[in-house]
Amino acid sequence: MIRIRTLDQLHIAPGARVFYRVDYNVPLEGTRITDATRIEETLATLRILRERGAAVVIASHLGRPKGERNAKYSLAPVRERLAELTGLPVQWADDCAGADTSHLQPGELLLVENLRFHAGEEKNDAAFAAELRKLADVYVNDAFGACHRAHASIDALPRLFPKESTAGGLLLARELEFLQKVTNISERPFVALMGGAKIAGKIEPLEALMNLADKVLIGGGMANTFLAARGVPMGGSLVDKDSLDVAQRIMEGHFRANLVLPEDLVVADSLDNPTEIDEEAVVSDGYTDEEKAFDIGPRTVRLYEAELKDAKLIFWNGPMGVFEKVQFAKGTMAMARAVAEADAITVVGGGESVEAVKASGFADRITHISTGGGASLEFISGAPLPGVEVLREG
Ligand code: ADP
Ligand code: MG
Repeated sequence: MIRIRTLDQLHIAPGARVFYRVDYNVPLEGTRITDATRIEETLATLRILRERGAAVVIASHLGRPKGERNAKYSLAPVRERLAELTGLPVQWADDCAGADTSHLQPGELLLVENLRFHAGEEKNDAAFAAELRKLADVYVNDAFGACHRAHASIDALPRLFPKESTAGGLLLARELEFLQKVTNISERPFVALMGGAKIAGKIEPLEALMNLADKVLIGGGMANTFLAARGVPMGGSLVDKDSLDVAQRIMEGHFRANLVLPEDLVVADSLDNPTEIDEEAVVSDGYTDEEKAFDIGPRTVRLYEAELKDAKLIFWNGPMGVFEKVQFAKGTMAMARAVAEADAITVVGGGESVEAVKASGFADRITHISTGGGASLEFISGAPLPGVEVLREG
């Protein structure tokens, strides 16, 4: 059992400044925030910190500016939305390094510009962490989605505070509570549903899941790669060529779980302008160069539904198809319903997976929606998360 120091254990002296590391890596269209969930989810911790008399210095990354200032990745739109959501003024510092926080009064909020405008953030640089250390007296981390990265604000920075002045916020504590339910599995069958675009980056967690779960159901681009590795001609479908060997290895290996692959797929001649769609193109026939697989087919949906129906524990990462297009959303939406309707503990993690579950209308029937895709996968696979390790009790 992993226990971290939590807010109720944290001593906050009157007027103390809290460095609050959040994950405000919100989806943007230009400067418009298309989904503010990540901001909304921090409001409870913010309220507690303010009630306890803290001034809060809020810090986040946004996108991948690669260590350089880039207006495209400014947190300015987040500042506006945060002010709306809290009904409070949100002060602003144009640079996280060297921001003046000395004047902050109890209850005041200050958002600092994107941490990743400094190369030191992703390098876990000690000097950059020391700069950030000057901003506050207390450290609170709620950026679960970034906890699998040893970055300066996640790893080096909290080490510069006295242990008793560091804690995880409500969001982080909640993530750990639910994800540990999945790893301390007592509920079986445990069915994992995996999809998304690629296998690369999900290999280790996938192998770990193969040893934890009873069934691993594969969809999305990930299924294409497995099928290609099995020798099925995948035509023009997205196949993660660099992962064919791993896919083969997983299929040939001895694991606890059975790997289940689609029996049919929805194929079309084009993603953006499909003129010909075959909704139930069976896998055993293989696919021509004009055919691209964008979703799982109805037979596969029924097969996976039956597996999920009996599950007592379900973990889902990665959409079953290109659900962003209505023509290719059926498989993902059917899985969202099946996961919601299962009499099971259900956990969904991953940026697009969460988006899909919300679009399906079944989000409130999922036990736990994880804010961190990569982080939840790594945690479940048993990898220590730097941002969590540093906050562990004892
Ligand atoms: P998550 O963010 O939930 O971890 P990923 O980022 O791995 O998921 O993958 C999500 C993306 O995978 C979606 O945007 C979806 O359009 C894409 N995808 C799923 N299936 C396919 C497919 N068959 N071909 C191409 N892209 C796919
Ligand atoms: Mg994603």
